[in-house]
Amino acid sequence: ADPSVAPAELLRSPLLEAHDGAGPAEGLPLPRDLYGLERPNAAGADPTCLESRQPLAAAIATTRVDPVPLASQADVADAMRRLAQGGAGWNHRPVDERAAVLRRAADALEARLPEFCGLLVKEAHKTLGDAISEVREAVDFCRYYAQQAQARLQPQELPGPTGERNTLRLHGRGVFVCISPWNFPLAIFTGQVVAALVAGNAVAAKPAEQTPAVAARMVALLHEAGVPADALALLHGPGETTGAALVAHPATAGVCFTGSTAVARIINRTLAAKDGPIVPLIAETGGLNAMVVDSTALPEQVVDAVVQSAFRSAGQRCSALRLLCLHEGVADGILAMLRGAMLALRLGDPADWATDVGPVIDDEAFQNLQTQIARLRREATLIGETPLPAGAAVPRLVAPVAFELASVGQLQQELFGPVLHVVRWSGDPATLVAQINALGYGLTFALQTRIDSRAERLADQARIGNVYVNRNMIGAVVGVQPFGGEGLSGTGPKAGGPHYLYRFCAEQCVTINT
Ligand code: NAD
Repeated sequence: ADPSVAPAELLRSPLLEAHDGAGPAEGLPLPRDLYGLERPNAAGADPTCLESRQPLAAAIATTRVDPVPLASQADVADAMRRLAQGGAGWNHRPVDERAAVLRRAADALEARLPEFCGLLVKEAHKTLGDAISEVREAVDFCRYYAQQAQARLQPQELPGPTGERNTLRLHGRGVFVCISPWNFPLAIFTGQVVAALVAGNAVAAKPAEQTPAVAARMVALLHEAGVPADALALLHGPGETTGAALVAHPATAGVCFTGSTAVARIINRTLAAKDGPIVPLIAETGGLNAMVVDSTALPEQVVDAVVQSAFRSAGQRCSALRLLCLHEGVADGILAMLRGAMLALRLGDPADWATDVGPVIDDEAFQNLQTQIARLRREATLIGETPLPAGAAVPRLVAPVAFELASVGQLQQELFGPVLHVVRWSGDPATLVAQINALGYGLTFALQTRIDSRAERLADQARIGNVYVNRNMIGAVVGVQPFGGEGLSGTGPKAGGPHYLYRFCAEQCVTINT
């Protein structure tokens, strides 16, 4: 007998019987109420952001996404010259002063939450819940890195023999190039930039082509909060030209990149081929993130975690669940519940409080996902999908969909959308985790089990940066769940963690013979 199979009473759930794949049985609560994403209840009230609803509605209605000027190659050269010369003044300011600027920025951003939410909804097509969370995350980055800088970047006196004074000092490296993706156009953009700044660097920031306006507004806010003009420059443009020129520039002293693994490799090669100083790269990249469910897991908890992890933000999170591994003893029951929950998800206008899943970012992403979903319809077994709303006026809606694969190894590439792959497993879960490790990515991983020793053992075995047990695997909180992966998922260190700022610093030990 397989020791991982739970006694029958652990598997019994009224919902297993209720959801037969055709939706919920009459009289039972809808799965959206049980497993719903963080969103308002039926009456339309959202307890998490009551204070924001009215100004939010007004801000979204009036938000304009202004076009931004693209940087020419000459603009890049000018900006780098200005930052290389002017950045030293910022670097020499006491760390407490730089931290104070970040705190002022946090206060301003918090006060302007509706305005930034409006931009996130209009430009990045974020749902309201996601937009609010993102503004709050950007605020958290500012406050957390301010606090960390004051705690960790002060000069340290080190022990030494009598007659000698040793001091370890940390300072900025010079001009840091920060290149960010569109999927968290405020939080990731801000996190990179303020970390580099508070460590004493000047920053050349290159946001994603899809989301320049939110970056432009944030940079204006940072300048208003006290970041000098010659310590922070914003350069809009395509990655292949503007981004590549910044990486290749001789004044670049460090690169902080978040985006795809493929682009991280290109940047790495460019830096390796450069003459002059060796330039460090911080790369935070993609994932093929798995959740392992054993037969002791709570089915309701599993389905809630899967819906949130795979489909929230239309699956456009690097941490999103891509591969659900269900023990064969419980797979049919959990899939029946998942099918029911997927039927109840609501696709639509991101500015509508009732929307669970909004549009994907652009036409290219939409077309790519359609092609991949068509391939999966041919090659894999369809498990369930969310119906598209009839006569949908909202463009680029991709319906959440789940397919069963024959093996873990069949999953080869990150599909950046609401597409879930499922495999069944039996036997030793360590073999399964070895297969997941062999995919080469190491960003997020989840375990659903009521056997504590198993959770410990498998978490230990996983070569993965963020492991979540018995919950969803998205939404890492700054300072609480430092975020970042290993292997194909990035170089570390972890954003929002206590070691992050060190990677933006040069260290100097001064020894004085007194
Ligand atoms: P992307 O790699 O296409 O682009 C990211 C940024 O790199 C953009 O600003 C782009 O303009 C720039 N870029 C592109 N080519 C470049 C080049 N040759 N030189 C310099 N810069 C270049 O990624 P994306 O589509 O914007 O974002 C989605 C990807 O990001 C997914 O793979 C996702 O998993 C990953 N991601 C990772 C994390 C993380 O923390 N690990 C967070 C969010 C997103």
